[in-house]
Amino acid sequence: MIQTTMSCGKCGSTALRKNGHSHGQAKYLCTACRHQAVFAPAAPRKAVQYAQVEKLLLERVSQRAIVRLTGVARMTVAKLAKKSAGPAE
Ligand SMILES: [Zn+2]
Repeated sequence: MIQTTMSCGKCGSTALRKNGHSHGQAKYLCTACRHQAVFAPAAPRKAVQYAQVEKLLLERVSQRAIVRLTGVARMTVAKLAKKSAGPAE
């Protein structure tokens, strides 16, 4: 079983259990306060990574170095580089 460090957004309890799906993502139910929510840990983690990539691009760090530093795929770095460069190219 995969160990997670998720906690209830309402009471902070880690006593969560899976309670069906919503929009393709697992829904969790807090067994302590009965609060239920969808947890999407990948999305905020990626947003942080992409922000870091964009910062490194501004510092003119090479794409390969960014891949090494952040672990983001090179194609993704290239895509973000194109986006941050704007339509001037
Ligand atoms: Zn709770």
